[in-house]
Amino acid sequence: MKVGFLGGGQLAQMMAQAGQKLHIDSLIFNPDPNSCAARYGELICAEFDDTDAQDRFIGEADVITYEFENIPADLVAKIEQTKPMYPSAQALRTAQDRWNEKTTFEKLGIPTTQFRAIDSLDDLKQAVTEIGLPAVLKTRREGYDGKGQFVLKSSEQIEQAWQAVGQKPSILESFIQFQREVSVIAARSPRGELKFYPLAENIHREGILRLSISRDRDPLQAEAEQLIGKLLNELDYVGVLALELFDANGKLVANEMAPRVHNSGHWTIEGAHTSQFENHLRAVCDMPLGDTGLKQKAVMVNLIGMLPDKDKVAAIADATYHDYGKAVRPGRKVGHVTLVQKDCTDDEFKARVASMLQLVEEHEILARLDEVL
Ligand code: AMP
Repeated sequence: MKVGFLGGGQLAQMMAQAGQKLHIDSLIFNPDPNSCAARYGELICAEFDDTDAQDRFIGEADVITYEFENIPADLVAKIEQTKPMYPSAQALRTAQDRWNEKTTFEKLGIPTTQFRAIDSLDDLKQAVTEIGLPAVLKTRREGYDGKGQFVLKSSEQIEQAWQAVGQKPSILESFIQFQREVSVIAARSPRGELKFYPLAENIHREGILRLSISRDRDPLQAEAEQLIGKLLNELDYVGVLALELFDANGKLVANEMAPRVHNSGHWTIEGAHTSQFENHLRAVCDMPLGDTGLKQKAVMVNLIGMLPDKDKVAAIADATYHDYGKAVRPGRKVGHVTLVQKDCTDDEFKARVASMLQLVEEHEILARLDEVL
């Protein structure tokens, strides 16, 4: 079996690594010659609109998937005509545009923020009067990790916000006063088999995920499964899907979905019986899905713009270092470390997580570790 990946970053890399265990070969289509996934498969290095490269890729792969949303939906639609291609172009189009995403949530009765479409400064002024402040202005397309976003606190900031998002088609969302951010990840296969991972609790700083904590029997697990289940069925979805949610006074409010493996599921490599990467491959290859149950409590710490000393991480018990092999640049995700709680007390585990947070200089999160762990 040869799986083709559109995109060659760390998500494709971890899927290709998982594929080795399943005797799956990986074919990576990526414009960047320094694709970090290429070490684990064969690389077709070309622009996505290069039709010769497309034809070679489609011809050689048995099944095709993608690792991120910012790939051309038309290419996914073209591939669908000839080869199994999962998740579908419809799922991709829903997730690529925040307006499509929010209207899908609304149609399915998935609670979400109030929102308005913004195509001009006048639209924004009008929407602020309707939704109120604070509110968040987000570009409809291509925003990630807090990029293309502006939190509006006062009406004096309206023009500044419109400039900050580059005057691009956007949506204005009401600002949610949440207690926690959680995500639910699920896998669905073409035969309709469905499995859910335990929720992850996610800690962000400056719009970027810093820490994910696996939750054991979270009180909101069943509600989260019900919400993501609606999306999986509506989209006749195949593969792994992630849904990011706010916990606002014990009620879940959907923020966004990702039609792919997700950063808040990296902990599943060490913490779950079957990782999200393996289950995505199992799903797209129409194999039985693996057990998504929690094997051991896990905390994932993102490595952003820096790689801590490997010996210092190795000195922390049951910590696994994942270095994506990417050039280090400020704000760039270059790796992660997962700590699992094996044969140690809660206090010992907390001390290990604290050591790790010190190595990545996450002092703010460290100061509130008692709240989050
Ligand atoms: P996003 O790119 O939509 O995932 O947003 C990045 C982060 O910004 C989220 O993880 C939240 O921490 C914060 N955020 C986004 N939208 C809202 C909102 N409507 N209300 C409050 N915080 C938000």
